[in-house]
This record gives sequence, structure tokens and C-alpha cells, in this order.
Amino acid sequence: MSGFHAAVNSDSCNGCGVCAEERCPVGAIALQDDIAVVTPAKCIGCGLCVTACPTEALSLIRREPPPEIPATAQEMGMKVLTEKGKLEAFMLASKR
Ligand code: SF4
Ligand code: SF4
Repeated sequence: MSGFHAAVNSDSCNGCGVCAEERCPVGAIALQDDIAVVTPAKCIGCGLCVTACPTEALSLIRREPPPEIPATAQEMGMKVLTEKGKLEAFMLASKR
């Protein structure tokens, strides 16, 4: 998870849908009542929506609380497996 996520200034959004329909690779933006709404838990902080917004309604803001940074590559691997719900299967397979 990135330390940043997209945020919408709803006063500037014109509801064009470019961010939600063409740019976001993970479905983290949807239009509600013709205004873009970001789901921070899904956002990977790539910024593709920000650079495409014609009204500059989108920006990247710092995620609070910031995500924990793994100290080692092994810890990172465990974190990724846990987030994907695959840790238990990995541990079982590695014992065989
Ligand atoms: S690209 Fe910008 S203006 Fe268009 S819907 Fe998204 S936030 Fe609103
Ligand atoms: S920053 Fe990337 S992942 Fe987040 S809402 Fe924008 S396009 Fe989607």
C-alpha cells in the first residue's frame, strides 16, 4: 500500500468520469451523483487519475495513519501474502 491516496475536491469535479472509467486500474474511484468519490482502501496511489483530470479536482494526499514499511524482504513477502489472504496456504505448502 502506498503512503498516498487520491482525493477529490468535489467543488472542482465536473463529473466527466475519466478518472473512474478510463484511468483507475483498480476500481478505486466511482461516480456518485456525478461527483468522483475515491475509496482510499482500494487506491494504490499511482496518480493516473490525477494527471488525467481536466479540472485538477484530484490530488494525492498523505495516507493517515501511514502504512508500515517492512524492515526486510522476508517481512515484505509475509505482508503481501497476508494482505492477499494467501499466507496460510503458503505456510502449509512450505512445510511439505
Ligand atoms: S476526471 Fe476529474 S472532473 Fe472528471 S470525474 Fe474525475 S475528478 Fe471529476
Ligand atoms: S491514484 Fe491510482 S489507484 Fe488511486 S484512485 Fe487514482 S488511478 Fe486509482
